[in-house]
Amino acid sequence: MPQQPDRQVVVRSTRVLTPEGERPADVIVVGERIAAVQPHGGALPAGADLVDLGDDALLPGLVDTHVHVNEPGRTEWEGFASATRAAAAGGVTTLVDMPLNSVPPTTTPDALAVKRATAAPSVHVDTGFWGGAVPDSLGALRSLHDAGVFGFKCFLLPSGVPEFPELTGDQLAHAMRETASFGGLLIVHAEDPGVIGAAPDAAGRAYAGFLASRPPAAETTAIAGLIGLARETGCRVHVLHLSSAAALPLIADARRDGVAVSAESCPHYLTLTAEQVPDGATEFKCCPPIREAGNQDALWTGLAEGTIGCVVSDHSPATAALKQPPDGDFDTAWGGISSLQLGLPAMWTEARRRGHTLADVARWMSAAPAELAGLAAKGAIAAGRDADFAVLAPEETFTVDPAALHHRHPVTAYAGRTLHGVVRATWLRGAPVARDGAVDGPPRGRLLTRP
Ligand SMILES: [Zn+2]
Repeated sequence: MPQQPDRQVVVRSTRVLTPEGERPADVIVVGERIAAVQPHGGALPAGADLVDLGDDALLPGLVDTHVHVNEPGRTEWEGFASATRAAAAGGVTTLVDMPLNSVPPTTTPDALAVKRATAAPSVHVDTGFWGGAVPDSLGALRSLHDAGVFGFKCFLLPSGVPEFPELTGDQLAHAMRETASFGGLLIVHAEDPGVIGAAPDAAGRAYAGFLASRPPAAETTAIAGLIGLARETGCRVHVLHLSSAAALPLIADARRDGVAVSAESCPHYLTLTAEQVPDGATEFKCCPPIREAGNQDALWTGLAEGTIGCVVSDHSPATAALKQPPDGDFDTAWGGISSLQLGLPAMWTEARRRGHTLADVARWMSAAPAELAGLAAKGAIAAGRDADFAVLAPEETFTVDPAALHHRHPVTAYAGRTLHGVVRATWLRGAPVARDGAVDGPPRGRLLTRP
């Protein structure tokens, strides 16, 4: 639905998630922006339409800064149209695409231009791009930064695709000095190749075997090294998809010392446990792995204390043939969990069970990732921000049916789970883009560049 520039809508709910917390409010939307947040039930401005949500909660649209869209080049794995439909259906209004698994990977300004041209006609939500720091891009990161990527992703061990090689320790130090020189952000897949090389092999159907092949020490070793370099270089670094709670004290101590390090975790680490993964169930494979229940409890403590700031999907699909090989071998299966459409209910289900509030979920899944990427117009229901909303029926439940997902491949580790929180509607810049799981109209998403 195209909005007239001055169209006024009042979105009313008894449960509006504002930066100050949850309260009954009228959100006054003018065109694409939030003009004001006022007391619930006030007089309507002349000519305004009213959308009364009753007791359904109004959250800021989710900002998912960790999505592998894989287009162009591996479009059979996912794509901008399918991924952003899944996002819209799941309450996500902004995503930032990872630089790898597409071909070309986003490691040069030319490659970024290819990605942008591919995405532009297809996106149902606002979409930005991370760049990649690979050995060949060192020395030239500034040009990609200036082209508008939000930061640079790197690996310290093989990424899983040959066109996106990892950095050695020396190259990581180089990348951090270079990134610090222009005030950029480095986002890191923090698993140490030495620790993983010395761990047992992952081959076979046993989940315990896969888990043992990626021990917590791989994360703590990598993160300790990263923090050391961050202290030395002043580079702002972000730890992607933290799985091992053993690394939390390192991150908390560094943050207390003023080191510019932040961390995210993902719904699968916070809601699924190793104990629940059947042998051969490679839909649960991701790297680093889903760990035991005790580790998960400690991750929630890290979230509550703010050591982990963001919760983002790491949506990383592949074809069913790659994701679920017939022999159920954890070594050869693709690592990645598809949850773009399910992150909000998955997180809310576990958060509410643990005594957290919707305000916490809005902070972890919208405000904090928006802040990480510097998206000042996103992440809050407040005057001046984009009118991006997720309308959630928090106490309603549903059972995850893979056939109802918009992801290109209906493979999910959440199949058959009953979750709390039904996404009733998603609004992008002043108008609905999805209702009750159906995505409305032609793509209205915009491409975002680093401000
Ligand atoms: Zn990822």
